[in-house]
Amino acid sequence: MDLPPAKHVDIMAHRYTIKVESTRSGVMSDDELGRCHTTENVILIRDDLPPDAMKDVTLHEIMHAIHFHMELADESSEESFTSRTATGLRTVLVNNPMLCKWIFESETTKKTSKKNATNT
Ligand SMILES: [Zn+2]
Repeated sequence: MDLPPAKHVDIMAHRYTIKVESTRSGVMSDDELGRCHTTENVILIRDDLPPDAMKDVTLHEIMHAIHFHMELADESSEESFTSRTATGLRTVLVNNPMLCKWIFESETTKKTSKKNATNT
């Protein structure tokens, strides 16, 4: 299992705890891949996801936190969403380099890197 390399993520100066949750714990429903508790600063990710899906879901929940802290709502304009998401996401990328490296490394990239490494 390719777990997140950090137990915490700084999202716009809010320290969130990342918990990889067992599907057997009963905390999450069967159809839930992840969850973002903005009031408790907790991100839950289910433990039985393939590696790329786990990264995708982690980013998805981080985006929910950014939208919450940027006070974006369903009725916000496209320009507001784009502008605030860009600013919020950039702060997460700048402040969490290890976690972001993990999120943006795909299984495909890993295989290519390993293949290149053996060829040199
Ligand atoms: Zn969602």
